Amino acid sequence: MKMKKLIAAVLMTACVCSMAACGSKDSGDGEKESGGEGKDTLVMATNAEFPPYEFHEGDDIVGIDAEMAAAVAEELGMEFKIEDMAFDSIIPAVQSGKADIGVAGMTVTEDRLKNVNFSDTYATATQVVIVKEDSDIAGPDALTGKKVGVQLGTTGDIYASDIKDAEVEQYNKGFEAVQALTQGKIDAVVIDGEPAKEFVKEAEGLKILDEAFTEEEYAIAISKDNEELLEKVNGALKTLKDSGKLDEIVAKYIKADAE
Ligand code: GLN
Repeated sequence: MKMKKLIAAVLMTACVCSMAACGSKDSGDGEKESGGEGKDTLVMATNAEFPPYEFHEGDDIVGIDAEMAAAVAEELGMEFKIEDMAFDSIIPAVQSGKADIGVAGMTVTEDRLKNVNFSDTYATATQVVIVKEDSDIAGPDALTGKKVGVQLGTTGDIYASDIKDAEVEQYNKGFEAVQALTQGKIDAVVIDGEPAKEFVKEAEGLKILDEAFTEEEYAIAISKDNEELLEKVNGALKTLKDSGKLDEIVAKYIKADAE
């Protein structure tokens, strides 16, 4: 397990480096000059392990964020490219200019706002608790002293670390945390609601507790040095919201619950 994690981390680092080489680059004066012929390229940093927002489908990265960001690029008359990386590499990639936008079901938090700007929000989300179907954990309050799995560097990770006496196990992918739960290695997983539904659908014998942990909002991360892009992205988002295009993308990936 430890070794696997290490290998994953090394591979991830290698990936990020090779991507940096082919991503858009800064020119000497710090002004952004993106690749592509003629058109500038809007480079999106993400962690494609977060269905239905971003995930792999064959060789492609698809999902709500991927389609929404592609539509934003189209609105702005730009080419579009996705760079897949570890979740906690996304903000550094945006800060350094390796990517123009970070789109990863990323929750707006005070801490992150110290490092990047966020666009207008495009979705509300919750952190939920996944447990085994026969678990005696009935709500978030019952997580005291339990072994709780999270995805490294996410808001779930932050909230779990506040649970009294809980032992927090951090995984590189949310899916790995869910797997550990299935295997009985941990007692619960704290993770975003929509990916939780996807993971629970794929797994055996798990359920999501009715009571959500928190409510939060997703937005697009943009460098503090690029106010111009922030304004442009907000303009494009507004167009996509007003035209119904954003709803259309969401509806393609999130089927309304038959309740
Ligand atoms: N919404 C969570 C966060 O921003 C998780 C995002 C993710 O795992 N892609 O921390």
